Amino acid sequence: MLLVNDIKLSVDSNEDKLQTKIEKLLHAKINSYEIKKKSLDARKELLYVYSVIVDVDNEDKYVSNKIKKYIKTDLNPPHINTNKTVCIVGYGPSGIFSSYRLVQAGFKVIVFEKGKRINERVKDVEKFFKEGILDEDSNVQFGEGGAGTFSDAKLTTRIKNQYIDYILDVFVKHGCKQSIKYEHHPHVGTDEIRKVIKNITDYLIENGCEFHFSEEVTDFILDDSRCIKKVVTKKGEYACDYLLLGIGHSAYNTIVKLQEIGVYIEPKDIAIGFRVEHPQSLIDTRQTNNMIEEANEYLLRYKGDKGVYSFCMCPGGLVVPAMSDKNTIVTNGMSYSKRDSGIANSAILIQVPMSEFNDGYIYLKTIESKAYAYSNSYKALAQNIKDFMNNELNELIFPSTYCLGTVLYDYNNFFSKKDLRIIKEALLDFDKKIPGFIEHGIMVGPETRSSCPVRIKRDEFGQSINTKNLYPMGEGAGYGGGIMSCCLDGIRIANIIINDGNI
Ligand SMILES: Cc1cc2nc3c(=O)[nH]c(=O)nc-3n(C[C@H](O)[C@H](O)[C@H](O)COP(=O)(O)OP(=O)(O)OC[C@H]3O[C@@H](n4cnc5c(N)ncnc54)[C@H](O)[C@@H]3O)c2cc1C
Repeated sequence: MLLVNDIKLSVDSNEDKLQTKIEKLLHAKINSYEIKKKSLDARKELLYVYSVIVDVDNEDKYVSNKIKKYIKTDLNPPHINTNKTVCIVGYGPSGIFSSYRLVQAGFKVIVFEKGKRINERVKDVEKFFKEGILDEDSNVQFGEGGAGTFSDAKLTTRIKNQYIDYILDVFVKHGCKQSIKYEHHPHVGTDEIRKVIKNITDYLIENGCEFHFSEEVTDFILDDSRCIKKVVTKKGEYACDYLLLGIGHSAYNTIVKLQEIGVYIEPKDIAIGFRVEHPQSLIDTRQTNNMIEEANEYLLRYKGDKGVYSFCMCPGGLVVPAMSDKNTIVTNGMSYSKRDSGIANSAILIQVPMSEFNDGYIYLKTIESKAYAYSNSYKALAQNIKDFMNNELNELIFPSTYCLGTVLYDYNNFFSKKDLRIIKEALLDFDKKIPGFIEHGIMVGPETRSSCPVRIKRDEFGQSINTKNLYPMGEGAGYGGGIMSCCLDGIRIANIIINDGNI
């Protein structure tokens, strides 16, 4: 195989032209090709730039400075002979990918997930979105697939790691479109990711993985040397040789239980804010002059006395009610694969250092409960951005996509004086970067669950620093933020267990 870089096609060209381009470059007929990377070059005319893996006869004769030999590394784990049992608590991205690898390697894997399987979960979430009836165990945060299931399913991360290819291969093997493997900002959408996650679970079940859905782990049994021996649920006790904990950032009950049994947990900084919504056309005009059909993204950063930034931007998406506790309000963003709502949304968050709170969970819950008390319903709190800047409160310039409705609220009352000043400076800065950001936008919130307020500290071998056999992972442990980084963390922990089993 050969790796051929820097093949350019104009954005309106048919991708089928790639084969002719490659053959022209090599002066040879090729057997096949696979796109490895596709990026947009918007410096002059808009172009897509491709790297492709090419299968051609007598490949050595084409190798040059520009064309390299390509050998794909096999990233699958070794199959080992083991009778060890791994219990995995939480079936979000970290739980999915740790179980996937450990099943591949031959371990007995038992997964506990407090939420339901996707089909049932979808019904519960839709009921909440339509009728405002929340199931605290089955919602946007909890259930098969974890928090990323009702999401934009952006598969992006700034981490560079060879296992990203492994993750994308697994997603494609179980039904994702091939293009996620090479697009610069791969996006799947909630409709597609749900199907893929269900396929992965079915595959794991076929390969011997034991699943306990609707079964929350409520306690842990340790021996005298602080080594975890069993997990406890309402249905029974289960012995394990390794316990992997991928509980996400909203599992306050479980964190309290871990604190009670003395697991070392430390606080960490968080961020709070709101979602902004804009006509997608405003964002597209600025990004590419409307020359390509995709709904465009943005990434905004402001470094004032505190950082303010856009987070989890969802082009053509919806703002969703993402609470898991009754009588609270939490917003987040989701989109379908077509990203065709016509509205762009993104969280705008300000950093909250841990010096500003005692217990991060209680700090966030207080904000979420106060929002509910103000709204006296699950309607989100909303304001035009320009009204926020001018200390006014008028009807929204367009209705929010948030399905449970909104009530007008003056966000000047939401932040401390200092944070208010910084947020307003940031919005003025964002308005320079995206003209019309203030004039044409609305804010909807509050957004409080962008990251976990604690870290379950682990040692270099992935184990809790004071509790043996306990392997915290993913966002809830403070070692990931986003789908891909949590998948990677699940793999990191699985690899440690596999290597341990090999010794
Ligand atoms: C609406 C929304 C949109 C998002 N969009 C994106 C996006 O587009 N791209 C992106 O990269 N990231 C996105 N994220 C963030 C991403 O989903 C999370 O970073 C990721 O899911 C965290 O993975 P995790 O494995 O650590 O935990 P989670 O996905 O949070 O999963 C944890 C699971 O553990 C279960 N659990 C908790 N406690 C227990 C217990 N005691 N017993 C049994 N089960 C338990 C929960 O029910 C849950 O299913 C989004 C998040 C939300 C909420």
